[in-house]
Amino acid sequence: CQMNKSDSERVRTVLDRMGYGWTDSEEEADLLGVLACSVREKAIHRVYTRIHKWNQWKNRRNVLTFVSGCVLPADKIKFLKLFDFVFTMNELPNFPDMVRQYGVVSSDGTDPVRDDAASDMTVVPDSKDGSSLISIESISTNRRAVMDGLWRVPATPNSEFEAFVPIQNGCDKFCTFCAVPYTRGREVSRPSGDILTEVDSLVSRGYKSITLLGQNVNSYGLDKPGVELSFANLLQHIGEIGSRQQKPFWLYFTSPHPRDMGDEVLGVISRYSCLGNWIHLPLQSGDDRVLRRMNRQHSVAQYAKIVRDIRTLLPEATLFTDVIVGFTGETDAEFENTRRAFEEFGYDMAYIALYSPRPGAASSRWADDVPLSTKRERFHILNDLLEKHAIRSHQHLVGRTTSVLVTHYDAKNDALMGQTEGKLKIRLDARDSSHIGSFVDVTVTSTAGLALGGEITLQALAT
Ligand code: SF4
Repeated sequence: CQMNKSDSERVRTVLDRMGYGWTDSEEEADLLGVLACSVREKAIHRVYTRIHKWNQWKNRRNVLTFVSGCVLPADKIKFLKLFDFVFTMNELPNFPDMVRQYGVVSSDGTDPVRDDAASDMTVVPDSKDGSSLISIESISTNRRAVMDGLWRVPATPNSEFEAFVPIQNGCDKFCTFCAVPYTRGREVSRPSGDILTEVDSLVSRGYKSITLLGQNVNSYGLDKPGVELSFANLLQHIGEIGSRQQKPFWLYFTSPHPRDMGDEVLGVISRYSCLGNWIHLPLQSGDDRVLRRMNRQHSVAQYAKIVRDIRTLLPEATLFTDVIVGFTGETDAEFENTRRAFEEFGYDMAYIALYSPRPGAASSRWADDVPLSTKRERFHILNDLLEKHAIRSHQHLVGRTTSVLVTHYDAKNDALMGQTEGKLKIRLDARDSSHIGSFVDVTVTSTAGLALGGEITLQALAT
């Protein structure tokens, strides 16, 4: 997931500063690690396959192994016997010390934790108590101290135009299908001064797409009432950065929770052109009983009110969602409510998941009693609705000229690909890779499925 990618950008910084070089060949590496995802069973199986292979290599040569990321307590106990280092992301700043204690001297003695972390954009009091030798068990009492340590490790972005900025870690919502609160712990907001400094720096370095990341972004600041900015205020400050810097970029956030979504956030987005016209609002189910079993803490009516507010305050915004079909005990009538909600809300994009129990999540104790064939059928019903709606609603874009961020070259289609401000994918009638990472003006010429087609308006190139 994007949080995993963001974690990897920080691990990369620490390893770079320890003097490690990078190799494409696993067989040549002296240090091998994995950022796990215990949330998905298949992903965790792959971790076991890898570590068994790496441990066999240890008979022939010296190699150190580590695991971090999203790890359930039960997996952590097993990993301790298999890996040389098992640490939480909160403990990342200590990784060089762990390696040194192992007797390995790194070629560079610099502190991997940024020592110039003092924010030059102090909006709120910014604690400097960032000790990091604290185990996950003590997070509830020392949450701020621990997370300050992690977030002072700057990211080494993998892209020159797209960046992800974590603004919180963990989650307090405890949806019954999800294990995140058990793998990443309770919600902790990152100091807003640090976030704004990082965004300001990315904008001045020419980043075009910046996404604020969190499991529950719009509850940002609620764990530090009266101390930290609200999420709407945080967006407003970023809007001001856009106005001041006069450099084009789109700022996104994912994922918000419907329970914490107020029209204040939508109002701020409507006032600043750099705040992207894109809302990703997970629905999960369109039935109140299922939502209760999922512990989503909102009703379909409350969700519908947010969608109405989006349509009123941000008429140009695209709407994306996540839905689960075949959740434990989901009846035909309950699914029918989801189908109706899906039709009513008219999504531009939806990530539709067939329910499968996640190890460690509360619902994994309940029967996974909806047959796979029924889940697939429900998936196709929603997917067909999505495509029909997308083709209809995107038709009005044909003939319009819009700004597009060119993201990559697609060899299969022999064409450049990009995305609109609303994150609609668009295939461009062009191949010149020098456009990648730039904004171009594009006239939309077609819609096909969920994607658009378009031509770059040559006289209107803008970066
Ligand atoms: Fe998981 Fe629910 Fe938290 Fe999202 S809001 S991370 S689904 S517990």
